[in-house]
Amino acid sequence: MEFEEVKDKVFRRFISRNQIDQVVQGIADQINSDYQGKNPLFLGVLNGAFIFAADLIRAVMIPCQISFVKYASYVGTTSTTEVKELIGLNEELNGRHVIVVEDIVDSGITMDHLLKELKNYTPASVKLACLFLKPEAFVKSFRIDYLGMEIPNAFVVGYGLDYDGYGRNLTEIFKLEN
Ligand code: 5GP
Repeated sequence: MEFEEVKDKVFRRFISRNQIDQVVQGIADQINSDYQGKNPLFLGVLNGAFIFAADLIRAVMIPCQISFVKYASYVGTTSTTEVKELIGLNEELNGRHVIVVEDIVDSGITMDHLLKELKNYTPASVKLACLFLKPEAFVKSFRIDYLGMEIPNAFVVGYGLDYDGYGRNLTEIFKLEN
C-alpha cells in the first residue's frame, strides 16, 4: 500500500519489507562473526524496538540471551532536563557483552542517557545495534556500532515505531506526508 492512515495523519510508504529484511540480516551477519564464543546479552529498548529485536535475534545463530528495558514515564523534571526512570534491568550485566537494540536514534539524547547508565553495571562491553539514525537531528557523539540505515529528518512509523501508540503493526516503514 502506498499510503496509510494512522490515527489522524497520512503516511507514505518509505522503506519496503525487503529492504528492512536485508538491513536486519546485514546487522545479524556482523554480530554472528563479531560475537563468536561471547554469549552476548541483547537488551531491547521498549516499546519501539520489539519487532526489530525479534527479527534480529532470530537471524543471530550464536548462543545469546535477550532482555528488555523501558524508560518509564517522567518521574521528575528539572528546569532543563527530564529525568526518566529505567525499568526492567533485572539481568546481571556484570561481565557480560551487551548489545543494546534500539529502533531509531533521533537527537540521541535518550540513548546517550541509557549508554551512560549501563556503564554503572560494569558490563564487559556495550555495543549498539540501531535500525535507523537521523543524522541531521543527532546532537550526541556516541558510536552506533551496527547501524541499519540513515534516514532524513522526518517522522516515520511502522515495524514497531508508532504515532501516538498506533502504526506499530505496519510491516513496512511509512513517512509522514507534509
Ligand atoms: P532521541 O532521544 O534520539 O531524540 O529520541 C529517540 C526516541 O524517540 C526513539 O527511541 C523513538 O521512540 C522516538 N522517535 C524518534 N524519531 C522517531 C520517528 O521518526 N518515529 C517514531 N515513531 N518515533 C521516533
